[in-house]
Parts: sequence; C-alpha cells; structure tokens
Amino acid sequence: MTSTLPNDNIRNFDDQITNKLISEIIRDRIKSTGTRFSANDNIAEFINPGELEILEKEVASRVKDLLKSLVIDVENDHNTQETAERVSKMYLNEVFKGRYHEQPKVTSFPNDKKLDEIYTVGPISVRSACSHHLVPILGECWIGIKPGNKVIGLSKFARVAAWVFSRPHIQEEAVMILADEIEKLCEPKGLGIIIKAQHYCMKWRGVKEPNTSMINSVVRGDFRHDLSLKQEFFELVKQQSATNNY
Ligand SMILES: [Zn+2]
Repeated sequence: MTSTLPNDNIRNFDDQITNKLISEIIRDRIKSTGTRFSANDNIAEFINPGELEILEKEVASRVKDLLKSLVIDVENDHNTQETAERVSKMYLNEVFKGRYHEQPKVTSFPNDKKLDEIYTVGPISVRSACSHHLVPILGECWIGIKPGNKVIGLSKFARVAAWVFSRPHIQEEAVMILADEIEKLCEPKGLGIIIKAQHYCMKWRGVKEPNTSMINSVVRGDFRHDLSLKQEFFELVKQQSATNNY
C-alpha cells in the first residue's frame, strides 16, 4: 500500500479487506483481462455503476495534492478552494468523457436502397487534449463514406466523433481510432477521415506558434484502392470547408 491519501471516503467500502483505491480496483480489473488502458482507450466497461462517483472523489483529492505541490493556498485562496472538484468533474464527465462513459447509442440500418454514392459530413468539431501535456487540441474533421451494408444518421457521426475525441490523444492515433469505430458501426465500402487541428502545446507553450495547424487523414477500403474516389473525397471536403453558411 503506497497511498498516503488521508481521506477514506475515496476508498471502496465494499473492498474492506484490501482497502484499495477505486482506481486500483478498476485498474486490476482491466489488467486481469489483458486489455490496454492507454490515455486514448475507453474503459467504461470496467467501471461498475456508482464507481465513477467514487473515482471523482479520488481524482479531486489528487488534484488538490497537485495544487498544494504547486504551493497554492487552497485553504484560503477563494479562487482555488473548489478547483480540485471542478477539475475532477471536468476530466471524468466532460473533456475526457470518452474514456469513462460508454459510446452514445447509434442505431444502424440496413442499406436497403443499395446506396453507393459517396458523401461527406463536416466540419465536425474536434475537441480533444494532447496526451503529452493535457492541453487542448481544437479543430475540425470531415468524414467521407461510400456506403456498404449499413447506414447511420448524419448526426451520429458527430456524436461518435465527440466521444472518441474527448480523451487525451495524439492526432495521428485519434484519426485511426475514429475510423475503427465508424467501420464497426456502418461497415462502409470506403471510408476517409481528415482532421485539421491546432495544438495548444504549440500555441500556448513550447515553440508558441499561434497559427500552426496539423492536418492528417486516413483512407480505407475503396478510398484507398480507387484513386478517383479518393480525389472525389478530398474535392468534396475542400468545397465543404470553403462554404460555411447557406
Ligand atoms: Zn502536447
């Protein structure tokens, strides 16, 4: 037992024998299945009902320790008295929601009409954070589909993207993870995704380049094999990014 946390309300009372922190219980549960739990993985299936609230208290306690280590007077500074609780809530339920909460329900339908023309959806907001510094990555993304066996509603792409992006990421992996999820949902014949984002670890700190952005893409299936289809996808996105209002 290495923890020195003073407050027992962040421990799981059902686990009296080991007296483990809830994060340790969840971590052990994941490890026992051999599953990866990197920053950009979703771990919702390993969190039982009621445990997220206990985890929220544990994270708040740790953030409070961080503030204390930064020599901030959390007892008397009225601005930071509840910062730890706010940050914990923000991480678990907002900006990193895609790690701790299940995927939003997305119903897919059979492609009865045998649609096979490509379409693109975007721009979809990218709100993420870099795994290296936990500062924002903000931008836009476009998704192109050549329908396969299943179709999903247009708004569902934005919902799935928001769920994937709200985790700590590196942009190169974020685009692959989103592509995997969309492939699972609608089994398209072709899929293309482009992300254009600004990284606050470059704007706010480090080299402090305020206008640099990163663009990356992934193409799969027919978009990969058929050059004209791939060009059509990039052309449609170019038009979409040039026209903002109708
Ligand atoms: Zn960074």
